[in-house]
Order: sequence, then structure tokens, then C-alpha cells
Amino acid sequence: MTCPLCLEQKAELFDQDKYRKYWKCHACGLIFVARDQLLSDQDEKKRYDSHQNSESDPGYRAYLTKLALLAEPFLNKGESGLDYGCGRTLVLEEILKERGFVVSSFDLYYYPDSELLSKKYDFIILSEVIEHLREPRETMIFLRGLLNPGGRFLIKTKPAPESVGEFSNWFYKRDLTHVQFFNENSFDELARLCQLQSPHYLGEDIFLFKE
Ligand SMILES: [Zn+2]
Repeated sequence: MTCPLCLEQKAELFDQDKYRKYWKCHACGLIFVARDQLLSDQDEKKRYDSHQNSESDPGYRAYLTKLALLAEPFLNKGESGLDYGCGRTLVLEEILKERGFVVSSFDLYYYPDSELLSKKYDFIILSEVIEHLREPRETMIFLRGLLNPGGRFLIKTKPAPESVGEFSNWFYKRDLTHVQFFNENSFDELARLCQLQSPHYLGEDIFLFKE
């Protein structure tokens, strides 16, 4: 079983439920679902279509405003950013624009403007995205190439519980579109791959990666 982050071929079966098996990489500690157990594109999109987030939902706006407020001290006004994997709405883009940033949004299913992936950015936000990536290594290395010198990643994802017992009961793994879960070691591996420093935790499951 090959780790989709560090490519190590040794992984042990960490947990399983009636839907999937979860493997843990010996080298970087990433917990991941085998790539032959991923949903089809069609089934994946169906699940995203059923997510309730919308512009008119004040709860969703408040949730993303929190992210913007935590990130803001590490950004400079006027900087350009990309909300990668924005989902069905442009709420985070709007919030950040109101706060003086130049922001675009990309989403494989809802805003697939590939032009945006040939530009450069001062920061790239992946809010509840990295746990969905089919090819986390390739995607993150690609996105790293879109960062300007001094660029940053802001990654929001729930860190994986260390114990199997906690993991087994963890709500986050029950979403079948979540296909890998990070811990401190796998975040360090991600940083190394992208030639960035180990992340700085900002709170609210947000991790800042910078040069
Ligand atoms: Zn690994």
C-alpha cells in the first residue's frame, strides 16, 4: 500500500469500518484510504451538491470569517490569494476582498477556471480541502509552484486522533469524500515536500505553512 503523500510503500492497516479500510504510513504517519476505495467523481460531486453551505447562511459566513480573522495577521493588505477548492460558493473570497485582499476562487467541480492555475499568489487557502485530494502529493507540489516568493499556505483540516479507539469513533472520517488525515508528522512531511517550514497552528484547525 503506497502512501499518497510520501510514497513509502509500507503502511499498516490502522482501522476499518463497513465502508472503507484506513491505512497508516510507516514513514510519515498519514492515515489514508486505499486509492481503489475512493468514490467515483460522480458520487463525489453528488455529495458536494448536497452540502448545505450557501451565501445566505449566516452560520457559514461566520465560520469563514473566523478563518479570515485568524489568517489576517499573517497576510499583508493588497496581497493576492487563491481559495483552492472553494466549493459551491464564493463566500470566503467575498470576505477577504472586503478586508483588502485580491482573491480568486477555484473549484474542480463548481469554479473550474484553469486560467487561475497559471497565475501566482501570495497565499493559497485550502479550507477543508486537503483531506479530499485524490493526489495530495502532486496537488500540493503543484500549488507550491503557484506561490510567489514569501508565499504561504493556509490549510484548514481536522488533525487525526492518535489512537485507533478515538479514530474509530471520529465523525470526520465518516465523510466518504475525506480520504486522508494528517497528524504532526505528516504535516512535517508535507512541509518538507513543499520546501516550507513546519506549520504554525493558528487555532480552529488552521495551519500556516511559510518559507
Ligand atoms: Zn507517508
